[in-house]
Amino acid sequence: MRVVVDLTKCEGYAQCAFLAPEAFRMVGDEALLFDPAPSAELGEKVLRAAAACPVQALQVDLADLPVPPPAETVVAATDDRLRREGRIVVAGLWKAAT
Ligand code: SF4
Repeated sequence: MRVVVDLTKCEGYAQCAFLAPEAFRMVGDEALLFDPAPSAELGEKVLRAAAACPVQALQVDLADLPVPPPAETVVAATDDRLRREGRIVVAGLWKAAT
């Protein structure tokens, strides 16, 4: 896992230091020190810290974390009903521009 903080955006609010103190630490009133490659065990804390950053200054790259296996495919109908009836319902919300 790699972490990058855009220090031109960081306002020193310290939410990251509160949520993942192992990876982020405030020094003085506004300076942020951070681990650019925290361990995988801190993944959840670091992701929460990134989500909580009010200015979205924290970017997390998960490219080197293990990829979970794909979810099993769910088959809605095991018979041939869809092919026979040929109907599909698509539900959604649409709002016309005014
Ligand atoms: S939460 Fe965001 S703005 Fe606050 S110190 Fe961390 S990176 Fe900076």
